[in-house]
Amino acid sequence: VDMFMNPIRRLVNFNEQLQRGMSGFSRFKELLEVDPEIVDHPDARELKGVAGLIKYEDVTFGYDNHEKVLSNINIRIEPGKTVAFVGPSGAGKSTLTKLLPRFYEIDSGSLSIDNTNIKNVTLESLRRNIGIVQQDVFLFNGTVRENIAYGTAGASDEDIIEAAKKANAHDFILNLSEGYDTDIGERGVKLSGGQKQRISIARSFLKNPPILILDEATSSLDNRSEKIIQKSLEKLAEGRTTLVIAHRLSTVINADQIIVLTEEGIVERGKHQELIKNRGEYAQLYNEQFSTKLAE
Ligand code: ATP
Repeated sequence: VDMFMNPIRRLVNFNEQLQRGMSGFSRFKELLEVDPEIVDHPDARELKGVAGLIKYEDVTFGYDNHEKVLSNINIRIEPGKTVAFVGPSGAGKSTLTKLLPRFYEIDSGSLSIDNTNIKNVTLESLRRNIGIVQQDVFLFNGTVRENIAYGTAGASDEDIIEAAKKANAHDFILNLSEGYDTDIGERGVKLSGGQKQRISIARSFLKNPPILILDEATSSLDNRSEKIIQKSLEKLAEGRTTLVIAHRLSTVINADQIIVLTEEGIVERGKHQELIKNRGEYAQLYNEQFSTKLAE
C-alpha cells in the first residue's frame, strides 16, 4: 500500500525484526551495553556489597507501545536462591531476565536489588553484579585469556586459570596450540559449541557476580558435553541468586522456585512436587516437555 514508506520507519521495522530473532546485531548491542537511551540517573549511586535479594513489583513492559509482553509481574527471589522460568515460547521468559541488567527499561512498577531500585544505581555497577551465560556465546577476536577476562578488569593469570578450571575448560585450553594464548573468535581457532560455553562459564566464574542469569541451551551438544556443562553451571550458581530460563529437567526439579509464565502472565509458582500435585499448567508442561527426558 505505502510504496514509499518512510525510510526511518523501515529502518525501525528492520531493526525490530532483527531483534525479534535475537540476531547477532541485537546480541552485540546488549553485549556492548550501548543502548543510547538507557543512561545513568544524575544521582545514580554505586551498587555494592550485594546480598542478592531481587524483587519485581508490578513490573509492566512492552517492546513497543501497543503490546505489553509482561504485565504486573511480581517476583521475589531470596539471596542465593534459584528461580527457574518455564513456559511456552514467546511468553516473555528471556525478556523478564533482560530487565534486570537494564537492557530494556520497564514501563511501570519497580525492580530492585537488595531493596534498591535498579534505576537509582549506575549501569556499570549494576552490570558488574550480574553474570549472564547464554546459549550462543559471544567470543571476540582475541586470545582465550582475553576472552575469559572480558568484563573483569585487572584479572591475574592465576585467577583466569582458576576460573577455567572451575568451568572444566582448563584441560581443553591446554590442548589448544598455544594454550591460553590461542586466538579464538571469528578469525581464530574454531571452538566447538560446548567449548565456547565453557569459556563463557569461566568468564562468569572470574567475574564472580552475586547474581546470575542463565539461559539454558536447548541442547545442541552431545550428552557428555551436556553433562560437563550442567555440572559447571550448577557449581557456578551455588551461593548466587540465579534466574534460569530452564530447559533441563534437573534444573526445574532442583530449583527453589519454579515460575510458570504464559502469555497470561505468571500462572503458577512453587516447587516441583507442589506443582505436580496441583495438576495445573506446570504438570501439563512437565508431561509435554520434560517427562520424556527422564531417561537421560
Ligand atoms: P523462548 O522460550 O522462545 O525464548 P520467551 O518466553 O523467552 O521465548 P521472549 O523471547 O521474552 O519469550 O519474547 C516475548 C515476546 O516478545 C515475543 O512475542 C517476542 O516476539 C517479543 N520480543 C522479544 N524480543 C523482542 C525485541 N527485541 N523486540 C520486539 N519484540 C521482541
